[in-house]
Amino acid sequence: MYATSLVCSSCGDSYPLDARFACDSCFGPLEPTFDTAALRRDLTRERIEAGPRTLWRYADLLPTREAPGSLPVGLTPLIAAPRLAAALGIRELHIKVEGANPTHSFKDRVVSVASAKAVELGLTALACPSTGNLAGAVAAQAAALGIAAYIFVPADLEREKIIAAAVPGATVFAVDGTYDDVNRLCTELAYERPWAFVNVNVRSYYAQGSKTLAFEVVEQLGWRLPEQVVAPIASGSLFTKLHKGFAQLVDVGLVDGDLPRQFGAQALGCSPVAGAWQRGEDRVIPVRPDTIARSLAIGNPADGANALAVARATGGSVTAVDDDEIVEAIGLLARTTGIFTETAGGVTIATLARLAREGALDPSASTVAYITGDGLKTPDAALAHVRPIHVAADLDAVEDALDAQPKRLATV
Ligand SMILES: *Cc1c(COP(=O)(O)O)cnc(C)c1O
Ligand SMILES: [Zn+2]
Repeated sequence: MYATSLVCSSCGDSYPLDARFACDSCFGPLEPTFDTAALRRDLTRERIEAGPRTLWRYADLLPTREAPGSLPVGLTPLIAAPRLAAALGIRELHIKVEGANPTHSFKDRVVSVASAKAVELGLTALACPSTGNLAGAVAAQAAALGIAAYIFVPADLEREKIIAAAVPGATVFAVDGTYDDVNRLCTELAYERPWAFVNVNVRSYYAQGSKTLAFEVVEQLGWRLPEQVVAPIASGSLFTKLHKGFAQLVDVGLVDGDLPRQFGAQALGCSPVAGAWQRGEDRVIPVRPDTIARSLAIGNPADGANALAVARATGGSVTAVDDDEIVEAIGLLARTTGIFTETAGGVTIATLARLAREGALDPSASTVAYITGDGLKTPDAALAHVRPIHVAADLDAVEDALDAQPKRLATV
């Protein structure tokens, strides 16, 4: 293992690689550090390429080892999107298809790493507060590992996501309140119960899973850094760790070049980070979420300020798009690539479209958009695109209906 300790990002105190919520001295966030010199010496592209066809091919860059029996997560497709690129006026666009993970969202990555650490530490159950996707990922991974799961979600969550958490046998608590209320409740519970709350007391490990979104894209581009990326922001963890992932590949000598410009995407109905960006402030002011992008509906984002700093440092930005733009973008992505995304992916593509339209992106630079979840998780949000033609089971009826149709041109 090349991870050596947990280090406080605020005061620099260091701790063993165990479960702890925050720094004892200053309550700052804790992050694993790695022996970069040893990684530079030992880690090669060939060693990674010879690894498993999951995110564990990057185990040397993660703070724990794969838990036996865990679900295979990661190495999702990175697909070229030439027709979407043409529609938006950009040269080279790739889409990272995170719906291809076992529970159909990027959350399988963070759960894979957090649950491996939980098993290593001998914790008896997995648990989490969730905006939806984490619930399904924790429930499924716990079932695969044969341990208990306790899930806490806002009571008014999409039923698809509650069902996906319940079927693998998790104990599901539907809590009266917003995600931020649920999160506060779980923080209190984490002190009472010997469980691994994946995004609370083992959050330091959970967050590391998102680095693999950077690792995979670089490897899939033929060991090349993309020049600009667009990714959604909920708590800001994914967005922040994406940057760490790209930087770590450079640090250990696997690639070189400039780190990608990072463009953050939020839904206008829950855009505390985009709001701070627009005001030109470092301070993220909590909001009360009201958007169809439920998986991104965190009003008080733990890593909001870090996400803001990453957008600034890389020459990116943070944008908010409204619910109509999200629905439109879900259709645009599906019509041009065949990929049906949940609302979070609509937020990302709507942001990409807005940035392209406003000239904020370099149209000649290589661009990657992270599509973090599958469309079947939020089918109701896409109903506006569904206009079936009702006909009798009769050939003439179909022919008549086709003649009455406006000619469908081969455009987007
Ligand atoms: C959780 C989630 C994100 C991003 O979450 P962060 O809290 O910012 O790491 C993005 N997309 C989907 C679909 C998610 O479920
Ligand atoms: Zn500290």
